[in-house]
Amino acid sequence: MKRPHSNNYFIKANTLMPGGVNSPVRAFHAVGDDPIVVTRAKGDRLYDADGNRYIDYCMSWGPMILGHGNIKVLNAIRRAIRNGTSFGTLCPNEIRLAELVQEAYPSIELVRMVSSGTEATMSAVRVARAYTKRDKIVKFEGGYHGHSDQFLIKAGSGLTTLGTPSSPGIPRAFAENTLTLPYNNIGALAKLMGEHGHDIASVIVEPVAGNMGVVLPEPGFLETLRELASKYGTVLVFDEVITGFRISFSGAQGVFNAVPDMTTIGKIIGGGMPVGAYGGKKDIMKLISPDGPVYQAGTLSGNPVAMAAGIATIKEIKSRPGFYSEMEKKTGHLVDGLKDAARLAGKRVTINSIASMFTPFFTNRPVKDLQSAMTSDTKQYAQFFRLMFEKGIYLPPSQFEAHFVSMAHTPSDIDRTIRHAYDAFRKI
Ligand SMILES: *Cc1c(COP(=O)(O)O)cnc(C)c1O
Repeated sequence: MKRPHSNNYFIKANTLMPGGVNSPVRAFHAVGDDPIVVTRAKGDRLYDADGNRYIDYCMSWGPMILGHGNIKVLNAIRRAIRNGTSFGTLCPNEIRLAELVQEAYPSIELVRMVSSGTEATMSAVRVARAYTKRDKIVKFEGGYHGHSDQFLIKAGSGLTTLGTPSSPGIPRAFAENTLTLPYNNIGALAKLMGEHGHDIASVIVEPVAGNMGVVLPEPGFLETLRELASKYGTVLVFDEVITGFRISFSGAQGVFNAVPDMTTIGKIIGGGMPVGAYGGKKDIMKLISPDGPVYQAGTLSGNPVAMAAGIATIKEIKSRPGFYSEMEKKTGHLVDGLKDAARLAGKRVTINSIASMFTPFFTNRPVKDLQSAMTSDTKQYAQFFRLMFEKGIYLPPSQFEAHFVSMAHTPSDIDRTIRHAYDAFRKI
């Protein structure tokens, strides 16, 4: 597959932007390839600057659950734009989207719209700290909660460690307030809470992890989190930026037996436009300005055009009975096909999946936390990515990401994906 136009764009981009991109993983460093420059997307397809087409399983990293360029969403955006693009005042679309969110997430008694997932998690933890009058937070290894300083902390070895920053530019004082634990490790969690519970403002967790590849919570993990957070007066935050409207209409909290105090959402809620939101119990959310003293604001928060895309996306999902079971069936067909292909090709692959997200790990071990995810052979994943890419199938350009299936993925495209995966597994 030739990509002269993409390559020329990328050369120029490198003279203008760090690494030629505005978000690191788009540079394809993890898979050792040159990135595509996409000019158009429709349904389950991406089209690059050279006119090549790709079946897309990255789906803009999660938002495009209806597929690219859904006509209802595009029309809603067109209608909204006729009235202007930003008012800087309260507008009806904010209220409509807030109502839809509250209906789907009863735990969100009050909600605040922002423009990204990063803002949502950062603000949720700020208000949790104000509410508890405590500084420390707990996150899990391999959990991603946007790029604000306090979350870019990786764990050292041992049961629990004071965080060390995983990026330069983060003051040690910030890192010291973030404690990290292995995902799915109830014992470590109980021990940490037993020792420090009364100092911990918030535990933030992806209820299904999506940023070390897809990793499911083991039975009891979320339930124990809920119990311990309640016991120590710690605010439990479910970061449902990926899982919100993805795992079910009510996210992971609609599926698993644990209800958080606060929830962050993003991605699907914006239907491909920049939207995030955070919300939760009224007595916590009441602390936010102008009701309370906790400051958080945004010039483009609740933007009428972005809200319109989110409303149209959620309404379209709601209008299709059986939406989530259809998505699960479609994804199950793909995942079963990939498992069979790997077995027939004699390749050891562990595929984690739930609802319409999955990740193939090149390991024969079960993947239940960051440590086991790291047993995956990332060189083999890179090779898999490149072989699929050459056949016009675009997977996330890194091992530790979720693959997404959308409503627009067709059975024939899924079958084609399985056939090419078999060929690729044989070559790796
Ligand atoms: C993507 C993501 C974020 C950050 O959202 P942005 O819109 O990229 O800032 C936060 N949490 C989780 C779980 C995510 O997947």
